[in-house]
Amino acid sequence: MNGDLDEKLQSFVGQAAGGPNRAPDPVNLPMIRHWVEAMDDFNPVYVDDEAARRFGFPGIVAPPTMLQAWIMRGLRASNEVEVARAEGRRLDTYSPMENLMALLDEAGFTSVVATNCDQHYERPLVLGDVISATSTIAEISPEKQTALGQGHFMTTRLDYHDQHGELVATMRFRILKFKPGAKGPAVTDAPLRSETPDPRAPDDVPRPKRPRPALTQDNRFFFEGAREGRLLIQRCTSCGTLRHPPRPACANCRSFDWDTVTASGRGTVFSYVVNHYPQVPAFDYPLVVALVELEEGTRLVANLSDVEPADVWIGMPVVAAFEVFDDELTLPVFHSDGTAGPAATAATAATAATSGTAGSTGTAGTAAGRG
Ligand code: ZN
Repeated sequence: MNGDLDEKLQSFVGQAAGGPNRAPDPVNLPMIRHWVEAMDDFNPVYVDDEAARRFGFPGIVAPPTMLQAWIMRGLRASNEVEVARAEGRRLDTYSPMENLMALLDEAGFTSVVATNCDQHYERPLVLGDVISATSTIAEISPEKQTALGQGHFMTTRLDYHDQHGELVATMRFRILKFKPGAKGPAVTDAPLRSETPDPRAPDDVPRPKRPRPALTQDNRFFFEGAREGRLLIQRCTSCGTLRHPPRPACANCRSFDWDTVTASGRGTVFSYVVNHYPQVPAFDYPLVVALVELEEGTRLVANLSDVEPADVWIGMPVVAAFEVFDDELTLPVFHSDGTAGPAATAATAATAATSGTAGSTGTAGTAAGRG
């Protein structure tokens, strides 16, 4: 326990977490449509004015859980903050919340994980509403021992008002700001933000093991299969639908009965990211994480190995292999099957036009992956 730090932390309670945020756009149908598609929630009151009136609403209403989406500041502004943080620079607009985070960073609580989000809705939001949010640092816990390490829980309360100043919703958002890897000696001193980061532990300290999966009776087969060198997909025995990640019931017919089929291991890169930060000592960086679409139709997240990030492309054919990380953990990883990417194809093509859609998509994927 650190009394001084605790006292400093408590002085933030009740302060505004940041300036008031006004939604850049009123509640609108295009954003609702994108949300509805992304969430696969086709309640007619979100898109059909007549249906909404039939259910007693004044017109189309926004899905309540879109609350945060209305006041998001956008990718560009978020990136500016991220870049400033990574460079250890403070922006002029630093708020009490950012000062609080900096104080905790300096005290060694460098990692953050969101733990709870509770939203309360006073009324449904309708097209044309203009939302503003004010946020307050509501609570900071004393130092606690958690499974992730020593840390402080911090709760922020957001009050959402409409264009008339009426409260439409509140949200309490709780995060844990913690010292990473208090369990392993190598992790504690890892240079998370060094200019020349070396994710590996020094030679004289054993490298920490890759994190264990949380095994349940539903997903155990997948990891046991991997240990035997088999890539297993869960299959509903009532209707035959394949599913991944593993879960208890079939989304198609609600049956709880299932068995597994062994996948061929062939698939294509559906999407991917290249992870540079934060660096965890158990992994090698840059770390290529792909969403692989198996030829059986299910998708899974796995590492691409033996491939340079710049050589990955959307649609790249890949094959599964099994990497033994330690005595307990074997995971499927994917390798390129050797098919040349669209960049190579485009370079040898007579005209730009022949590189086609796949080329554009692949390039976009690479750019996004580096972001
Ligand atoms: Zn089924």
